Amino acid sequence: MLKTYHFSRIIVFAIIFILTIGIYMNAQTVHPAWMKDSQLKLEKELIAKYGESQSARLQKGLKQVADFWQGEDGGAAVFENFIRTHFAGSQTTLDAMFKRFEYLLEKLNGHMNEIGLAFREQSDLDQGTIYPFDETFAAFSPGAHITDDFFKNKLAFIVLLNFPLTTLDERLTNGGQWSRRQWAEVRLAQRFSKRIPAEVNQAVAEAAAITDQYIAEYNIYMHHLIDAKGSRLFPPKMRLLSHWNLRDELKADYSDKGNGIAKQRMIQQVMDRIVTQTIPEIVINNPYVDWNPFTNEVKPAAVKDFDAFPKSKNEINNSPEPDTRYATLLKAFHAVKKVDPYSPTAPTLIARQFDENREIPEERVKAILESVLNSPLVPQIAKLIEERLGRPLEPYDIWYNGFRAKGKYSEAQLDEIVKKKYPTPDAYKADMPNMLMKLGFSKERAAYIAGNILVDPARGSGHAAGAGMRSAKAHLRTRIGKDGMDYKGFNIAVHEMGHNVEQTLSLNDIDHYFLNGVPNTAFTEAIAFVFQAHDLDLLGISTPDPQSDALKTLNDFWMTYEIAGVSLVDMEIWHWMYDHPGATPSELKSTMLKIAKNIWNTYFTPVFKKKDVVLLAIYSHIIHSFLYIPDYAIGHLISHQIGAQVKKSGNIGAEVERIVKAGCIAPDLWMKNATGLPVGSETLLDATKRALKEFKK
Ligand SMILES: [Zn+2]
Repeated sequence: MLKTYHFSRIIVFAIIFILTIGIYMNAQTVHPAWMKDSQLKLEKELIAKYGESQSARLQKGLKQVADFWQGEDGGAAVFENFIRTHFAGSQTTLDAMFKRFEYLLEKLNGHMNEIGLAFREQSDLDQGTIYPFDETFAAFSPGAHITDDFFKNKLAFIVLLNFPLTTLDERLTNGGQWSRRQWAEVRLAQRFSKRIPAEVNQAVAEAAAITDQYIAEYNIYMHHLIDAKGSRLFPPKMRLLSHWNLRDELKADYSDKGNGIAKQRMIQQVMDRIVTQTIPEIVINNPYVDWNPFTNEVKPAAVKDFDAFPKSKNEINNSPEPDTRYATLLKAFHAVKKVDPYSPTAPTLIARQFDENREIPEERVKAILESVLNSPLVPQIAKLIEERLGRPLEPYDIWYNGFRAKGKYSEAQLDEIVKKKYPTPDAYKADMPNMLMKLGFSKERAAYIAGNILVDPARGSGHAAGAGMRSAKAHLRTRIGKDGMDYKGFNIAVHEMGHNVEQTLSLNDIDHYFLNGVPNTAFTEAIAFVFQAHDLDLLGISTPDPQSDALKTLNDFWMTYEIAGVSLVDMEIWHWMYDHPGATPSELKSTMLKIAKNIWNTYFTPVFKKKDVVLLAIYSHIIHSFLYIPDYAIGHLISHQIGAQVKKSGNIGAEVERIVKAGCIAPDLWMKNATGLPVGSETLLDATKRALKEFKK
């Protein structure tokens, strides 16, 4: 769901992240001896000067500055002089300070975003050779040192002295009563809630690179998988990356009426070997051996289908991968744990992911996921899948993909329609106001929004790059072939246009710059999916079909059920690592297997009738995405809530305009404003009930 590449979001989030990092003296760190005296002295002095009404603000600000102040920042005289100079003791000064930071940080973020876009242009756009120097430009991060600079010149301390840091609990408990300005102040302060030393950032970046590389080179050469009869079920030259490609092939095999089941069982067996680390090390990323994943027998390859470098192994044997999967996850854990002392408002990765990035407390996320996993709809849908398959479920059917409607038009017909309509990026751009009006935007608003979106030819499949400041424009990057846009390209372009519309409205029409955007990526994805679902309407060839809506909902439910299970595995393993920081890879492995089996046995065995399956632990994200998986599950639910709301309103344009104006406040508050309910599973569960009824008709 969230796989589409959104360059601007990444840049904006990267800048926000960079702005929020920098060296924090945690609670255990002893402040310099003079600090306490200086604080008390200044408190008295400044309350006498500005009045008792400033007392609470002053105390909080003094503590926030003291918490982050280090030896290199100066001694008592420097500290005291800084506080006297920069404490905004009157509303007039505070207003001026807030406005100036808002204005100037917009300029900073916006221009950094423009530099980043320009530096990546040659790599991102379909405009000729990428030279090695283009890659160096693309990898450069112009904002990388801003937080360090802001602590050095003390702008970060000015923010910490005058605006409050908050915990998630405070934001959720009090946020509903805050004014828009208060929310904007909170978002400003959050940018400086961490001061992480460069060497710690470096360690995290290195761990991320190591885990990425481990995953990126984990290919299985499918033609070299041998069954009991010595047959090769998969075609030559099929190289599949774990786990995405393996899973996608498994899904594709549902349409193979001959060998489909045998292929799916074999892929499941390969996944099992990876998770349990009984996979022979020599078969990973190696087309020079043949492997029977059931007996685990390995032999020199009897056929050649790839020109790869042979693995430098002296002898061919089936000695297992030595728990590298879990050693890699431990490397990630040890690196991110180093950030903990410098992140006082969220002192673990678990807290940073739930409290800061998602802003939904972990217990609530867990309860929401369990409400899907425990839903009485699960056995009903499982039964329906068994009927459609004509056999009992097998564990890999967590990836069942048969809830799909047959379109009225063939792909070739659609290609022809789209190619004629959009031969060039300019043709798409020229038609945007018209498309937006079909989605319900007024003529004036459609022209305004389209005027803020540029259309560029993408090298890859397409992405949406938003602006970072109001004077800049969003970019819709889309793939257009020599003979025009094909249907797939159009479908993606409409999705990206949804992002661009959200980006434009939530930046240009927002009341406070610090509130621009949406609470997290799931929200912008949901809006993009609403647009994407109307692509045929935009071509003027859609006919309403309740059956296809029902199928889509059942598919969403089943995907959410599956990824909710994986999310719980991801959450439990991070807790265990935090509880056992000295664990060995082998201990981590046995715990992972235990957790995956427990979750399977609790939520999946009742319908799959098989125990102790470890498939939920195959996700590559568990190894390299640092507790990101729950976002996919929550993303499905958010998508349904927003989709249902927009549908109910009857006017996509007007409703999208209304809901995105809330900006990046806490997700639950945003969702209450949009739909009347906090983030949750009710909308998906209700829609699934209706879909089942529709289906049984
Ligand atoms: Zn997207």
